[in-house]
Order: sequence, then structure tokens, then C-alpha cells
Amino acid sequence: MSKFWSPIVSRLTPYTPGEQPKINNLIKLNTNENPYGPSPLAIAAIQREAADTLRLYPNPDSEPLKLAIAAQNAEYGVTPAHIFVGNGSDEVLAHAFQALLQHDEPILYPDITYSFYPTYSRLYQVAYKTIPLSDDFMIEVDDYLEAGKNGGIIFPNPNAPTGCLLPLSEVERLVAAQPDSVVIVDEAYIDFGGDSAIPLVSRYPNLLVVQTLSKSRSLAGLRVGFAVGHPDLIAALERVKNSFNSYPLDRLAIAGATAAMQDQAHFDRTRLAVMNTRTGLVTGLNALGFEVLPSAANFVFARHPHHDAAILSAGLRADGVIVRHFTNERIAQFLRITVGSDSDCHALLTALPKHLL
Ligand SMILES: *Cc1c(COP(=O)(O)O)cnc(C)c1O
Repeated sequence: MSKFWSPIVSRLTPYTPGEQPKINNLIKLNTNENPYGPSPLAIAAIQREAADTLRLYPNPDSEPLKLAIAAQNAEYGVTPAHIFVGNGSDEVLAHAFQALLQHDEPILYPDITYSFYPTYSRLYQVAYKTIPLSDDFMIEVDDYLEAGKNGGIIFPNPNAPTGCLLPLSEVERLVAAQPDSVVIVDEAYIDFGGDSAIPLVSRYPNLLVVQTLSKSRSLAGLRVGFAVGHPDLIAALERVKNSFNSYPLDRLAIAGATAAMQDQAHFDRTRLAVMNTRTGLVTGLNALGFEVLPSAANFVFARHPHHDAAILSAGLRADGVIVRHFTNERIAQFLRITVGSDSDCHALLTALPKHLL
């Protein structure tokens, strides 16, 4: 606290990212990073871009990247005018809170969800109402339809940190029933087992789909995310962006992200590998007595009926395996475990039994 702080700063609750340990040989299953490297074509593109041209400002509209994303989704009528890009999807989400969710009525999101949503709500002074997940930790569309007037709806699909997927037909039912609300679907993990809502964008002007290159494209360190929606929604995001930072993506990020979006083979190979490892991880955890929520993400959410999650998390940390534990009461007995490489997951399954005696 300082007398120099503006009043709103004292009232913020900043997001706490998962630990990025300084020690090297830890097995890091706590921040949902991809165990496989990014596309070699992306790395080559970044290397080519590391040149004298860095003295020049980048393309303010990240045009090559928008063209690559549009090309990927051309069959759904997506053009560059339907696309917004930002410095990580967190930045895209932040701009969406300010540009599209700051209305008189409270916005709606699940009680158990990405903890950046309450953080942005406070930053932009957006009133919100949380809608409880069902007893089996699922999003129930009817609960949103019955919640009364709202200033917008946002949820991750699959949800975080549960990993549970809302079927696309249910996403559509919600979007179709709320034509006067913007519905933002945060698809950070959709490539690990769900169907994207991007094909719905051409039919629903109130739908904004947000994706990131951090998880399924293995580029968490490059900081690139994007949104796909009706050009009127995108125009609102561009207005905020151009009132904030005209160049959110640097030259290296535009080059790397564009090449990554174009490398479908690497994308498919690595996400399939993650999904295969997930199957083995779930089987292994079940065999040790864990209940694991059905995951369509690159992490699993698991609890043991007889062992406290905070103690398990600390025990694993002492063994050099880091997983994520949240203290929120409803999920305090769960561990969120990233699907790492086969050997990382094997190390976790080998470390666990002595903590379950
Ligand atoms: C990881 C994550 C993001 C954003 O990641 P960026 O690295 O900022 O693109 C957004 N939403 C959810 C639910 C996430 O888990």
C-alpha cells in the first residue's frame, strides 16, 4: 500500500500464476504447458525474423497471422475481419471484459472456473454472478437460462480447472437462447478433445470464441491468443486495443504464430500424443484409487477419497513433482495434474503410492 496508488489498485486481487520453479530437474505438471516443443517451422520463422528489421515496428494488425487463422477456418466463413489477436489469450479476454462485458447487468460465469475472470471483473469493475456447477462439476445450460437478465456470459470449454467439456450442441443452445447477451467461450483447451464453437460464429452475432497458442501449439512463451466472432464484436476489441497498445504482437510473435498455425501435421501429432498419454494417466490414477473427472483437456482433475489434496501436493513437491492445488473450498480436495510426457506421467504415478499408505 502506498498513498500513490490509485483507489482501484488497492482493491484488486491479482491472478496468481502457477509456480515457475528456478530449480531445473523438477517434473512440472502444474501449468498445463505442452511437453512437446513448438513446430520446428515456427522456431525457424522466429529465427528468420530475428534480424535488422527488428528496428521497425511490427504490422499493427498482425495481418499474416489473421490470414493464417482465417485460412484454417475458411470453411466456416471466417475472414480476417472476424479475427482479433492479442498478447496471449489473457490479453484478449481482458479486452473482451472491457469491450463487451461492461454493462449494467451482472455477467455470469461458473463458480468453479478460470480464476482470471474474477480478477478482470474487479479490474474493469464488472459486476458478476457465479452459477454453481452441478454436483458432478458440469456446466448446466439451463441454470444460465434461468439466471435472469445478464450483461454477458463467459466460461472456458473445456472448463478449467475441471477439464470437463460442454458438448457443442449445449453451447449452441445457450448462445441461441441469449441473443441479447454476448457469450464468450474460452477454448484454451478445445484442441485436446472437444469441438470448437468457431463454426457457429457465422450464425450467431453474439458469440465470441477465444483460443490460445499457449497449450495445443506449445507456444506459451511466445504469448499469442486470438478471438473469432462477428466483425462488430471484433471492432469493439480493436477499439480497446488501439486505445491501449497498437502493437500487442511483436515481429517474432507474428512470424512464429503464423508458421505454427500453418503446421497442421505437428499440431495433430502432438495433441494426439497428449491425448494418448492422458488415457494412460487416468488409468494409472484410477488404479491408485483416485476419482478423475472426465477430461477433454491437457490436464486431469483428480481427488483421492482418503487422502488430503494439500498434503499429497506437498508430498509430491518434496519428491520433485509439481502439481496444482487450489484452496477454493469446493475443489480443495482435488489436484490438477498437467498431462506431461509419458515419462513425466510415469514419474508421477511412481511417486504417488508411498503417499497413499
Ligand atoms: C491457459 C489459459 C488461458 C490463457 O492463456 P494465454 O497463455 O494467456 O493465452 C486462457 N483461459 C484459460 C481457461 C486457460 O487455462
